[in-house]
Amino acid sequence: MRKGSKRNDWTVSEEQFLVANAGKLPKREICLLLRRSSESVRQKAKALRRQGVDVCLRYYRPTLEPCPHCGNLSGTIDRSGKCEPCRRRDQLAAIQARIADLLPLLPPDERATYERTEALLESKSDPLPEPPDTDGMSGYRRAYAGEAHARAVEACVSRNLRREVKAAQKRKERIEKKTIQ
Ligand SMILES: [Zn+2]
Repeated sequence: MRKGSKRNDWTVSEEQFLVANAGKLPKREICLLLRRSSESVRQKAKALRRQGVDVCLRYYRPTLEPCPHCGNLSGTIDRSGKCEPCRRRDQLAAIQARIADLLPLLPPDERATYERTEALLESKSDPLPEPPDTDGMSGYRRAYAGEAHARAVEACVSRNLRREVKAAQKRKERIEKKTIQ
């Protein structure tokens, strides 16, 4: 405990800062910003909780980061600076561009066949996972659940795109066989 307890009186704005940032910033950072000891912050949070204010200091350190390309939270950003879904979309676009270049080279009847069968081909896609119900969760739990959801969404989108890429790859190969003669 500090001597000269005047300094220990919390102002309303300090309290508001604590309530707004508890769980969103690491406790150490909150202490630094308020220029208060860890003990002082802990005691204040405890006092606020006793008054029925929802203040939980437990901080969830994010493990995902936003993809600089699409902005979605991702755990798969590689040296290209893109998440897996972005990389798959690029891959798909490249294959589709190649198909578009090849199509005019097909004999007309072949092209008609291709376009007819193409309409029937629709690669399966898994539905996206439902967002979690975070009502009543602590900030920590909410952040944890939020990341788990973002991770599941990314995995699902990636899986669907991988399937599309594979299907497009096969179509491209079929067309190549018919044009290279
Ligand atoms: Zn991305």
